[in-house]
Parts: sequence; C-alpha cells; structure tokens
Amino acid sequence: MAEKKDYLKELLEFIKNATGEDGVKVFKELMRYEDISEEQLVEVLGMKPNDVRRALYKLEKYGLVKNYKIRSEDENTYIYYWYIDREMLNRNLLKIKKDVLSKLKRKLETEEDEYFYCPTCGMQFTYEEAMANEFTCPRCGEGLELVEDNTKKRLLTKLVKRLEEEIKHEESVL
Ligand SMILES: [Zn+2]
Repeated sequence: MAEKKDYLKELLEFIKNATGEDGVKVFKELMRYEDISEEQLVEVLGMKPNDVRRALYKLEKYGLVKNYKIRSEDENTYIYYWYIDREMLNRNLLKIKKDVLSKLKRKLETEEDEYFYCPTCGMQFTYEEAMANEFTCPRCGEGLELVEDNTKKRLLTKLVKRLEEEIKHEESVL
C-alpha cells in the first residue's frame, strides 16, 4: 500500500510540473470516474470552463487522459467525455516519463508556427484539422481564427529538456 501511495504522489508531482496546478486538480477528479463529460467535470470542479479545458488539453498532450465525443441532441455540436488512460496508470513512472518524452519529441517535430483556434471555446487545430472542419469549430460552430506563434514550440523544447534530465537522473540512481 505504501508503495502505491508513493507512486501516486510522485505521479501527481510529475503532472504538476508538466501541466500545472489545474492539471493536478482535473486529473485527481478524473480518477474518481470511469469517464465524465466535460460539462459535468466543470460543474463538480467549480472551475472556469476554459481553465478546465486548457488543463484537459495539456493532460491529453502528455497522453495522460483521453476523450471521446458524441453528437449532442441538436446534432450541431459534440459533447466530450474524458477519462484517464488506466493502462498508462499501471506503468511505472519512469516508463510514463519515457513515453511522454517520445510523444513530446514527435510533437516537436511536427509542431508548426501557426495554428487555428476557436475564439469561443479555445480549442486548437492544425491547418489540416481546421481545413477538414471547414474552418469552423466542431464543438461550438464558431469560425476559426489563425494564430501565429512559436511559444508552443519553445515551451515544448523546454519540457523535452527537463524530462530528459529527469529520466537521466532517475536512471543513474536505479
Ligand atoms: Zn469552439
């Protein structure tokens, strides 16, 4: 039991470093459900919808959570359900970090300096994704706007470096 507790503590510490306090809050809440709609999650957390969404996207980027969507009753929008990748949880932390690192590296290779985003819900899209959705947000139907920005790339590079150092350190003490 003690080992499990330590593992969770370490995992949450890692999540805090990678995604911030909001990421930890959201992740902890998600642990209580098999899956939960984004709307319900916002309600139980009592956080701003955009903060919850941002945290979810970050967690997703690291492969810590997943989602699926279903069409809402009016058929024009989607309802997103989120859940923790339980298989991932069963791996040890070093393995998780290695997986996250390779995901981030792949992402860094394909990350472009421009992307599209929805001014209403904040969802982000690559050019291909935006085009596939006819430059309209699949979540709320809003027109997408182009953003030119390389801060994402810089942030990713920083995270990759930090993770590489962490992994190197952990492997040296094993
Ligand atoms: Zn939207």
